[in-house]
Amino acid sequence: MLRLYNTATRKTESFKPLGDEVKIYTCGPTVYNYPHIGNYAAYTYWDLLVRTLKANNYRVKRVLNLTDVGHLTSDGDDGEDKLEKGAAREGKSVYEIADYYINVYMDNYSKMEFLPADIVARATDYIDADMRSVDEMTSHGYTYETTDGVYFDTSKFPEYADFAKIDLSGLQAGARVGFNAEKRNVSDFAVWKFIQPGEKHAMRWDYLGRPGYPGWHLECSTIIHEILGEPIDIHTGGVDHIPVHHTNEIAQTYAMTGKKLAKYWLHCDFITIDRQKISKSLGNTYTLDDLADKGFSAMDYKMWLLSGHYQGTRNFTFDSLLAAKNRRQNWRNRIAECYQREMDGDDGVFEKILDAVNNNLNSAEAFAIIDNSRLSLNDWEKVDELFGLRLIVDTPKISEKQYALVKERDVARAAKDFAKSDKIRDELLSQGIVINDTPNGGVWQYSAW
Ligand code: AMP
Ligand code: ZN
Repeated sequence: MLRLYNTATRKTESFKPLGDEVKIYTCGPTVYNYPHIGNYAAYTYWDLLVRTLKANNYRVKRVLNLTDVGHLTSDGDDGEDKLEKGAAREGKSVYEIADYYINVYMDNYSKMEFLPADIVARATDYIDADMRSVDEMTSHGYTYETTDGVYFDTSKFPEYADFAKIDLSGLQAGARVGFNAEKRNVSDFAVWKFIQPGEKHAMRWDYLGRPGYPGWHLECSTIIHEILGEPIDIHTGGVDHIPVHHTNEIAQTYAMTGKKLAKYWLHCDFITIDRQKISKSLGNTYTLDDLADKGFSAMDYKMWLLSGHYQGTRNFTFDSLLAAKNRRQNWRNRIAECYQREMDGDDGVFEKILDAVNNNLNSAEAFAIIDNSRLSLNDWEKVDELFGLRLIVDTPKISEKQYALVKERDVARAAKDFAKSDKIRDELLSQGIVINDTPNGGVWQYSAW
């Protein structure tokens, strides 16, 4: 029985789908820059969510959006449009920037072995639908116009503060000097922005008689409405989305449809690096390519992510990444061993692994079970399907002869016969098999692995 922590209720609940098909929406990336490793955390955990649902025999329909317009550099309604910023930085058009970084993301998603979303929705393909969303909200009395846009009047939605447990009076009192005087309430937000005369903004659409573009929270409500219909089963994102982005999505959807947006809300916490936030100024915005330059594959990083829990800050260090890499290598060695001789798994071992993951995606506990149990080849195949770690494809069969040499070397090392173990190591190396001795014992791999 799958249990998930639901941000909406602040409780861990048994998962009960709304219909035959589990509808999931994941807030996707803003495609204006190279993603750093922290950006993959959420997608890794939501990939695990989908794989877990499938392992429990649910049918899943998952939508991922790509924000290629309108996401401002702040969560509020000020700041630069991220796409415009990317275009200025690289001397390209906003459309070139979006296309380029969508390719980067999609390429890296397949490197991370994420199951493809059923539908990938580009925000710019939903602009007409965005306008219809604003029309709906307006016809129900939830919006007002100012000089610079159409705003959502949060005082019209009394539950506005509930989801994030926002202290609205505190927010009002703390409103900054220079705060947009045309806004009725501090928490009001733009659902549509007007482009002012003389303002540079390449992406623009005519609506309400003026050029403008959607507010960045709007696309998610619109895309969910257009593709999935409300309410959906599960909505996912990072914890940073709770107070503004998801709060605003909930308000918009209610104003458009009178319905709840989602039954379950899942949020993953942030990755720190050496206990510091990931930021350009600290020079730690590592990309997957940076990890590859240091000898770590996307699968090593995914292994690192899944060796912890999606809730609670995870602290990244290269030492812990090395431990994850070695652990994965150790698992692949065990798979290679399964190729050599028929191995029975412990009774019900995969069920135990799935039980652990069913407990609010506790992959850390599942990994500990894998470390401490015997798995058959069939169990490993199921493990690989559950976590998407390319364990099987990345483990070519070695010959029986080579395997016998590996084992002979283990025996020699245990007997401290280093001359013999070194000789075997060299022989294996000449056949393309590298043996690395780690604090947790020797692991071996083809040099091409
Ligand atoms: P950004 O493009 O920087 O706004 O990041 C997009 C999303 O990636 C954010 O909304 C977060 O949910 C997620 N994200 C960014 N940094 C981290 C991090 N250090 N750890 C986990 N998730 C992150
Ligand atoms: Zn969203």
